[in-house]
Amino acid sequence: MLQKAKTLDPGLMVRRCVACGYDGALLRGGHAEICARCGCNLLKRPARSYAEMEGLLGQPMTLDEPLSSPRCQERLIHRWLVFLFLTAIGFIALLYLATATFSV
Ligand SMILES: [Zn+2]
Repeated sequence: MLQKAKTLDPGLMVRRCVACGYDGALLRGGHAEICARCGCNLLKRPARSYAEMEGLLGQPMTLDEPLSSPRCQERLIHRWLVFLFLTAIGFIALLYLATATFSV
């Protein structure tokens, strides 16, 4: 991994909203509290430059909480349950439509 940026391209250093990509003056270099374009809370999800996101400045992105934390694992299990539920609903709908198609 690179420790220092090897480029002087200023485009890589401009902080932008990670939700919508906005990098205008209203972002105030990443010090604004809310993104002017999409309303993203920049205190919870700070604006970052591409160099910061890729770890080119020697400061890799850190997660707010480790993946092994109970809360993170709970969210992961919740997402999997939602995925399985929606998949089951889709499968049932597909079976219903197939049954209706072939029963005529
Ligand atoms: Zn935004």
